[in-house]
Amino acid sequence: MGWYKQHSSFSENHINKPVIDRCINCGDQSEVQAQITMEFGEGNYNTGPICKKCYSINRGPRIIQF
Ligand SMILES: [Zn+2]
Repeated sequence: MGWYKQHSSFSENHINKPVIDRCINCGDQSEVQAQITMEFGEGNYNTGPICKKCYSINRGPRIIQF
C-alpha cells in the first residue's frame, strides 16, 4: 500500500489541487473525479476513487452511490 504515503501531506496543499489516486475502475493513477461505490456483480461492491474518464463513461446505473 505504498501509494497511500502521498496522502500524508494532503492537508498541506489541498486547496484546489487535483487529487491523483488509483481509479477503482481502470486501475490507473489519474485525477480523481469522485468517491463512488460501484456494483461489480451481484452483492459485490467496491468503494473508492474514480477517475474523470471512467466517471464520464460509467455515470449512470453502474454507479450506485457518491
Ligand atoms: Zn478510471
